[in-house]
Amino acid sequence: MGQQTIVIKLGTSVLTAGDIHLNKPRMVELVRQCATLKQQGHQIVLVSSGAVAAGRSQLAQPVGDSISEKQMLAAIGQGQLIHLWQSLFALYDIPVAQMLLTRADVEHRERYLTARDTLTQLLKHQVIPIINENDAVATSEIKVGDNDNLSAMVAILANANKLVLLTDQVGLFTADPRTNPQAELIAQVHKIDDELRALAGDSGTSLGTGGMATKLQAADIAQRAGIETVIAKGSEADIVLKIMSKEALSTTFMRFDAPLEGRKKWLLSAPKSTGTVIIDNGACLAIARQGASLLAKGVVGVSGSFVRGDLITVTDSQGQVIAKGLCGFSERELDTIKGCHSLDIASALGYKASSVVIHRDDMVLL
Ligand code: GLU
Repeated sequence: MGQQTIVIKLGTSVLTAGDIHLNKPRMVELVRQCATLKQQGHQIVLVSSGAVAAGRSQLAQPVGDSISEKQMLAAIGQGQLIHLWQSLFALYDIPVAQMLLTRADVEHRERYLTARDTLTQLLKHQVIPIINENDAVATSEIKVGDNDNLSAMVAILANANKLVLLTDQVGLFTADPRTNPQAELIAQVHKIDDELRALAGDSGTSLGTGGMATKLQAADIAQRAGIETVIAKGSEADIVLKIMSKEALSTTFMRFDAPLEGRKKWLLSAPKSTGTVIIDNGACLAIARQGASLLAKGVVGVSGSFVRGDLITVTDSQGQVIAKGLCGFSERELDTIKGCHSLDIASALGYKASSVVIHRDDMVLL
């Protein structure tokens, strides 16, 4: 592939080299690689963690791990983080921009499109956007929570070809390589299944937020959006360049052949589901095999709290997630009309309403 847009996610463990301070030699190394890629015509977006770590190392007194203390640390450290990036990229005359996002910024389609337009403009003007979660203001409802998932959202926003998750591990192994010498690196993954998720377990580091589990979530979203994801070790020399020339030891999650179109990519990336609808086997088949919309007739149960237009999760009777989509009814309405034929919805509710529960254009299969 020729020129690509590459989103590179740098975890705290990479940026601090496992220490408590931001590690400048490590950062300058990554900057050099980004500059090389830009020279080759690629577009780069960074998703940089490290604000909390930077904030912590600036305070003389020890600070705890409560949410408000971490938010304070992020507020202190984000400035230093972006300042460092800016001064390092200036060595190569590359301008950078800061974008701080939360889930709320991509949840509403209009804000999502605005963030996308800003990113597109930055890339068009040869600027490297450096993105982090807006930790200082993010409440638990609007937080993405970890930069792995954030980077998948960003990769969709940036219409990226590749998502690179740099971490302190070479990739995903068949067992924990730190405790099991027989562990083997999994070089390629076509589809993420429960077995793989079990393997990923909770192999996190104490410095950052994510672990392999959140990396798998990110790769899963990216695959469906048609974006290849690579997990690799950030401390390895020339790692990003080696990933581009396919010489890196890493785990690559291949992108799906039939990526979703724009609106569905947004559905996949952004909103948090606020409710669940359980459907019968007939409806499962109609949705999955025939690409049909979800009708009230197939609904057997409803839970959670949502209004018309909210994103909900669709499961089968065993609780297996089938799809996500924007619901045409509130949970109270849906509870009233479940099992109804479409023609009987108006009389059941006492007013005219949507004829489908989730239109197929507003639904992504999972
Ligand atoms: N946003 C956090 C920070 O800048 C990092 C979150 C993460 O590592 O996933 O420190």
